[in-house]
Amino acid sequence: MNQTIKIVIAGARGKMGSETVQLIQETEHFELIAAVDHKYIGQTVGEVLGMDGVTAPIYHDLKDCLQNVEADVFIDFTNYETGMKHTEIAIEAGVRSVIGTSGFTKEDVARLQTLAEENNTGVIIAPNFALGAVLMMKFSKLAGKYFDDVEIIEMHHDQKLDAPSGTGIKTAEMIAEVRKPHQQGHPNEKELLKGARGADYDGIRIHSVRLPGLIAHQEVLFGSAGETLLIRHDSYNRHSFMSGVKLAVERVMELNVLVYGLDNILE
Ligand code: NAP
Repeated sequence: MNQTIKIVIAGARGKMGSETVQLIQETEHFELIAAVDHKYIGQTVGEVLGMDGVTAPIYHDLKDCLQNVEADVFIDFTNYETGMKHTEIAIEAGVRSVIGTSGFTKEDVARLQTLAEENNTGVIIAPNFALGAVLMMKFSKLAGKYFDDVEIIEMHHDQKLDAPSGTGIKTAEMIAEVRKPHQQGHPNEKELLKGARGADYDGIRIHSVRLPGLIAHQEVLFGSAGETLLIRHDSYNRHSFMSGVKLAVERVMELNVLVYGLDNILE
């Protein structure tokens, strides 16, 4: 790829954002031109992250930022409320976006899809950028055709704000597209402690584990007479997400619509 892709990022000080800044620095055809933060306004990303040569200035407001710089792609790794607001602003400004922030509901995605179409702007929203996790979801959808009984156990570090994870919900959505609708467990089951059976997505149970030491892990457990099938993915560090982020930044340059899930841009 010859063209340099000029990038604005929100969440650069965070765990995913700082890894993404590193990726941008290491990628010849990527250039970080600005960041958006609610702190350290007027400083550079390099000063805040202690990275030499990263001179991108920090803006307080995305709208203001996009009026002042010529961005090709906006990347967001913040939190649900900020990510939602930023995605709308970027689409309305006609700047293509890669959104890694999780917590977007089906309704949010549908609304943003319409907004992206109206503004003829490409967006990729991906609950998980790890290629192995994308395959885990695809394999789970395949298994969901043959196994009606399934429970999802997603496990993350204890600083994660949303539950279930975006990956957990997206996996349930993908399985629900092919699985015969079915309420998991005994019809008369009773929870003796609230939440014991986890969240309910179309009858599929999702259990969220939060522990220090974990990064991002998920098991999709299928059961049938006399057998179980376990599909598991583990991200051991945040580097695991970066090949997916790089791919999304490159592919969004060719899009004029919103794509939800990295699986939709992988063959
Ligand atoms: P994090 O370490 O808490 O980073 C979030 C960053 O956003 C923090 O530096 C935070 O600053 C900043 N922020 C908060 N409000 C802001 C605002 N209004 N404007 C600009 N920046 C703001 O979280 P993380 O682990 O990097 O995760 C970020 C998001 O990505 C979460 O939604 C997470 O679930 C998701 N995630 C996605 C993937 C994927 O593959 N798609 C993988 C891992 C995580 P303060 O701390 O000062 O508030």
